[in-house]
Amino acid sequence: MYLRTHFLAGFLSARLFGFNAFYSIISGILAVLIDLDHPISYSIKHHKLKFKEVWNRCVREETNARSFFHKAYGVVLSSLAIIIIYLLLSREIATIIFSAYYSHIVLDAVKFKRKRHWDFGRIFIVRTSIEDIILDSLLLIGSLLSFL
Ligand SMILES: [Zn+2]
Repeated sequence: MYLRTHFLAGFLSARLFGFNAFYSIISGILAVLIDLDHPISYSIKHHKLKFKEVWNRCVREETNARSFFHKAYGVVLSSLAIIIIYLLLSREIATIIFSAYYSHIVLDAVKFKRKRHWDFGRIFIVRTSIEDIILDSLLLIGSLLSFL
């Protein structure tokens, strides 16, 4: 799934938990940061250091170069960390991390069979399809409706 979709899902998830716009944006950003392991893993695996090249290859190849947070043991350990944060530190912080992390993992489990896609951007490629546009639109509409 693409970064914009992760942001929207993390944002909407936090809104559904009752958080205000600021904390919902934090949730959206956390949901995006979880995917930093894609370019890092790709960079290490293929010995590439230029961010633009790594980004564009990750988008074009839709690589499965995933590490810790996306693997089963990562989900287990992240869940344990969220529970510990919930019990010992802050219910609010744990809930924001929960909404960011689980919205991300659920979306990554969805595999669209994109019949057709388009690439945009001269420097950094952004890929989209009809399925992505529909999902992003629904998440955006849900986010806007959460303020009513
Ligand atoms: Zn991911």
